[in-house]
Amino acid sequence: MSETVFGKIIAGEIPTDKLYEDDDCICIKDISPQAPTHVLLIPKKAIPRLVDATAEDQAMLGRLMLKAGDIARMLGVDEAFRLVVNNGAGAGQTVFHLHLHILANKRFEEGDGLGL
Ligand code: AMP
Repeated sequence: MSETVFGKIIAGEIPTDKLYEDDDCICIKDISPQAPTHVLLIPKKAIPRLVDATAEDQAMLGRLMLKAGDIARMLGVDEAFRLVVNNGAGAGQTVFHLHLHILANKRFEEGDGLGL
């Protein structure tokens, strides 16, 4: 559970700015925000990358998506937010414990698509 920084946060081994926690997941503020609102929704199960998830994780991942909406509502950004999952180092993943970035309060230009 605690090989990555997120595993250590979930295990309570390092302090964090925690916004939400339940049996499945934890939501924390990103330490290096890329938008005025930037939080991370992290499943407690240590799945390294999205592609490492299996059918066994289906229900938990579904709950995680619903929870992302709840968190957006809780933060008052449910009208405009972006959900990002980086899968693999080549896509910018730096912490190999699956997590969803919730980004908001940044001007997402109309038509900028994925911002790639
Ligand atoms: P990714 O690049 O998709 O793997 O995202 C990892 C994210 O974790 C980055 O946005 C980091 O700023 C963030 N991060 C790394 N360490 C911490 C930490 N101790 N607390 C909160 N966020 C962190």
